[in-house]
Amino acid sequence: MRVHDTYTGSLVELPPPPGPIGVYWCGPTVYQRIHVGNAFAVTVLPLWLKRWLGYRGYETKVVVNITDINDKIYDAAPGHSAALAADATRWYFEDTARLGLGRPDVEPTAAETIPEQIALIEQLLDGGFAYEVEGDVYYRVAHFPEYGRLSRQRLDQMEEQEPNPLKEDPRDFALWKANKPGEDTSWDSPWGLGRPGWHIECSAMAEKYLGTSFEIHGGGLDLKFPHHENEIAQSRALGHGFARIWMHNGMLSMRGSEMHKSIGNDVSLKDALDRWGRETLLFFFLTGHWRKPLDYSDETLEQARAQLETFRNAFRSTSEPVGDWAELEAALDEDFNTPEALAVMHGWRDHELLRRAFGIFGLESIAEIEEAPTELADLAERRREARDAKEFAEADRLRDELAAAGWEVRDVAEPPGYRLVRCP
Ligand SMILES: [Zn+2]
Repeated sequence: MRVHDTYTGSLVELPPPPGPIGVYWCGPTVYQRIHVGNAFAVTVLPLWLKRWLGYRGYETKVVVNITDINDKIYDAAPGHSAALAADATRWYFEDTARLGLGRPDVEPTAAETIPEQIALIEQLLDGGFAYEVEGDVYYRVAHFPEYGRLSRQRLDQMEEQEPNPLKEDPRDFALWKANKPGEDTSWDSPWGLGRPGWHIECSAMAEKYLGTSFEIHGGGLDLKFPHHENEIAQSRALGHGFARIWMHNGMLSMRGSEMHKSIGNDVSLKDALDRWGRETLLFFFLTGHWRKPLDYSDETLEQARAQLETFRNAFRSTSEPVGDWAELEAALDEDFNTPEALAVMHGWRDHELLRRAFGIFGLESIAEIEEAPTELADLAERRREARDAKEFAEADRLRDELAAAGWEVRDVAEPPGYRLVRCP
């Protein structure tokens, strides 16, 4: 299998199975409900990859961290960042569980990895790669000649991170930050009370669970600089191989702009799941190549839903021995090309092959076209009538009655406006 590596700008071959393949993926910063773009970057893509690698005979260990110490959290909840981080961590688990893709092998938090972060900072200080200024510790960028290689930037053209006139060089970045008024969390360190910088958190969490050298590091394209550039600088300055391959996924956009809370065009994963359901949302992600931008809109989601319906129809017709599994493997083994895999699957008529292929993406439920018993179909019809008459309490009651019988009623655009699906 080959995947595209940002560092070399080329497709890089994975070692033969069983590997092992250690994968570190930058997870969510917990200060709000995650939006659908985050959900693809931190949950869908790494877990699909884990499932595919497992299918191909690899031993995998997938680590997706939880960033629970970060400027964004302090800014979002001055004085009570820890409470917000705890709430948002719970929301993250709740919302991503609904995707039904399982969990990563390890989900460490920054706060529980502080001793490892302090140890790394001490090694960087010992090696002359860092210096302390009034309780802050900064990384000395000038001492790491490879700095900028991942993001392909020249040192003299880089924008300043974390401005502080006491820094030796404007490009230096913080490894440890002294506690400031208004910050409700802090930890003891050789440099006084404070908290880690964002980048050292990830270097420490990755190395704690995957060792100093591992196969793949992933994350959204927006993390390439400065976050991943800084992780490389921290770990490689100490002679650690760190990640061999860097995978950066394209960003989800909405109305032509990248989805960001700061622009106000973000849609939470929770709302997206409430509106479209997990099948349509996961199918929508399949339609784009993971490295390319993907546009989230009513139109593109409707298209995904319609395309998914054509597969459901394939299950309604008779299975025929049409389909070649090797073509699917070829598509996914070449940079995990899911749109290509879908194109291959569109030509298939073999139910068993289709079911197996959708199973990789957690979508085996598409194959379930079991007809509901007549009395339940009647209940669903009465629910639709109640809903049309805006008798929502009655509609909800009927939905609950169906759920108690083991069937979920889903609203769809096609007549009769709903579909009954057996709950897993
Ligand atoms: Zn990270």
